[in-house]
Amino acid sequence: MSKHYDYLIVGAGLYGSVFAYEAKKNGKSCLVIDKRNHIAGNIYTEKRSDINVHVYGAHIFHTSDKFIWNYVQRFAEFNRYTNSPVAKYKGELYNMPFNMNTFSKMWKITTPAEAKAIIDEQKKEIKGEPKNLEEQAISLVGRDIYEKLVKCYTEKQWGRDCKELPAFIIKRLPVRFTYDNNYFNDSYQGIPMGGYTKLIENMLEGIDVILEKDYLTNRDELNACADKIVYTGPIDAYFDFCYGNLEYRSVRFETEELATDNYQGNAVVNYNDHDHPYTRIIEHKFFEFGTQPTTIISKEYSAEWKPGDEPYYPVNNEKNSELYLKYKALADKEEKVIFGGRLGEYKYYDMDKVIAAALEAVKKEFGKISE
Ligand code: UDP
Repeated sequence: MSKHYDYLIVGAGLYGSVFAYEAKKNGKSCLVIDKRNHIAGNIYTEKRSDINVHVYGAHIFHTSDKFIWNYVQRFAEFNRYTNSPVAKYKGELYNMPFNMNTFSKMWKITTPAEAKAIIDEQKKEIKGEPKNLEEQAISLVGRDIYEKLVKCYTEKQWGRDCKELPAFIIKRLPVRFTYDNNYFNDSYQGIPMGGYTKLIENMLEGIDVILEKDYLTNRDELNACADKIVYTGPIDAYFDFCYGNLEYRSVRFETEELATDNYQGNAVVNYNDHDHPYTRIIEHKFFEFGTQPTTIISKEYSAEWKPGDEPYYPVNNEKNSELYLKYKALADKEEKVIFGGRLGEYKYYDMDKVIAAALEAVKKEFGKISE
């Protein structure tokens, strides 16, 4: 590498791109590398038959942080998409997240008082603080909904029994006693018009990017080319798995174009029984209210990560959380390296939180965020 940079940024995803953008604003030079042949990490979108395909799964931007919402508007205009998935259980269709539409269909009731009474009765089986995802789900929505809408979906998604999973995973989902199918409680929500790749392209404008460059197999050469490093790959891989490997869930997509303009009438349909091997089907055009003559769908299959697969979700159970802390202690000793993002921090981050974390690192590094 002939040029010397202030920062080498490993990974052209959201964390790395925000950091690079801010570093450049602070007059620092950056080289962003990625082992894939494209930028944007897992939020990468690709235009096929005039439809922006979320190649690594559905990404819906949502936040309650006004600063972050304003911040992302610098890079893209967002549409008014509001996520409201439907869940299929053995031919029955339920609205998500858990709200009066769900309760009314499940129990043939109409009022919030009736729904609350049923849930209160059903949650009596949980004594004390919920200790795991199963207990948390039952104490939030009762056993009927747990059995039909949570149990199988979660087992398929995580490949583990609901009793072995942390309670916080299910707390991501709102429970409401109103007829409101909005999947998120956040104040702001939308999809960047023109796709996420364009958003990241805008962040990286004027910054050197090298694709298909793997940091871990070219460490010596790459370490020599910059004063500091921002590493957004898996933290265990950085340390050559010296304490053993952290577990991840990986996701595989079967994507196809169909000769219909409307396959399922919604961007997201969850499959909550064991009769279907996939967890959900995404119909990409509906993220942008598309009216194209054909449609593109992706069936999402969840699997345990193994070397060579893409890691998607950290499995934040006790065993992995303990292991992560050991790696984190090593990371803290690396003075010239900032670890960030879902893989660098082994954290089930939403996009807004990734941006916030990157901006925190920016503040620490430069004392401020750009105006
Ligand atoms: N979940 C569920 N049923 C559903 C959708 C989600 O039980 O129909 C549970 C499941 O355990 C999942 C968690 O809620 O892992 C979080 O779901 P979310 O949609 O937030 O996950 P993501 O979109 O990040 O995969």
